[in-house]
Amino acid sequence: MPSLFDGASARIEAALEHIEISQDVAQRLAQPDAALKVSVPLRHDDGRLTVFSGYRVRYDSTLGPAKGGIRFHPDVNADEVSTLAFWMTMKCAVMGLPFGGGKGGVAVDPKQLSPAELERLSRAYIDQIADFIGPDSDIPAPDVNTNPRVMGWMADQYRIIARAHTPAVITGKPVEMGGSLGRTTATGDGAFHVLSTMMQRWERDAEGTTVAVQGFGNAGQRFAKLAADAGYKVVAVSDSSGGLYNADGLDVDAVTRIKNEQGSVSEAEGETLSNADLVTLDVDVLAPAALESVITADNADEVAAGVIVEIANGPIASEADRTLIDNGVVVLPDILANAGGVTVSYFEWVQNRQAWYWDADTVAERLESRMVDATRAVADRAEEDDVDLRTAAYIRALEKIEKATAATGTSE
Ligand code: GLU
Repeated sequence: MPSLFDGASARIEAALEHIEISQDVAQRLAQPDAALKVSVPLRHDDGRLTVFSGYRVRYDSTLGPAKGGIRFHPDVNADEVSTLAFWMTMKCAVMGLPFGGGKGGVAVDPKQLSPAELERLSRAYIDQIADFIGPDSDIPAPDVNTNPRVMGWMADQYRIIARAHTPAVITGKPVEMGGSLGRTTATGDGAFHVLSTMMQRWERDAEGTTVAVQGFGNAGQRFAKLAADAGYKVVAVSDSSGGLYNADGLDVDAVTRIKNEQGSVSEAEGETLSNADLVTLDVDVLAPAALESVITADNADEVAAGVIVEIANGPIASEADRTLIDNGVVVLPDILANAGGVTVSYFEWVQNRQAWYWDADTVAERLESRMVDATRAVADRAEEDDVDLRTAAYIRALEKIEKATAATGTSE
């Protein structure tokens, strides 16, 4: 089976069929700048010790310090973290942010830990990677199963180690610790701006357009809410325990309440459906917002949606690309569609460095304008080069890195 990273590289190959970039750049992007593997010891509340595997990868820093989240999930491994760090490199480049790409993670199931254990684990992870990160070298943030609280513990641990107040080392912090307003909703907001921009371009109306959201965490919930408020009909949502379906449209606010109070959308009244069935549901817009590779060569042909908004990182395995294109499915690619989070992370980093904080409207306006501009630029490029949107996004990202490399004078 090809590794996740092999699949990611296939997308670069597809873009390279349309542009020439120097061999130096192509070679440098074939592997990460630096990859750290650490042991993260945790003393449980009952006195037992477990040592978890932790990772942090700086993939590329041509455009600026490495930037990317930290994931807590049992499936975290070196291949996945490197791939996610590579996608962050492309994402920051396509958004025009002054950042390279990085990522980190711990192979742990945080749902098995008490709050005190989670805090100790978060601090222990920072103890192990503190020399590898910094506001000018590598800047972590939240990802799957991590949130502002976890970022707060990590930023505090970094402050203790550095003996200096350094809020810009981690983004996605609680607002009280220098976090930006609008950061928690940013990924869902950004995905919605990307979809809205494309819907306008296609001269299509939200009214009557059906949507299914796979994954009902932070980003999926926000996206579903914005879609429902704008008049889309959100007919299905799911989380790791299962899904919920209503042909007339779900009450997204009610389902969100149940998810957050009882742990799963499947606790709500109504028709249930599996994650696998949700992915192939006959809807106009499918928004995978959980983990990688939910659409693969095995089920790509059964996807009935006309548009896929990749809110997760890598929800479509590269082997599925050809089938989806041949079937006329339009994919709004992850490196654009989920870039709202890192864009507001950039705003947070800027605010931390200036110690000058923006109001919520300023954050929201600047996010919208960056998302709309990036989406239009990618869509224009797709038309010019007669390629799909993902290839166009990669073309733009690679050109950006190529130009920066050439400007340093180190390329041939
Ligand atoms: N984890 C998010 C992502 O995959 C956000 C990263 C960040 O804010 O640095 O884009």
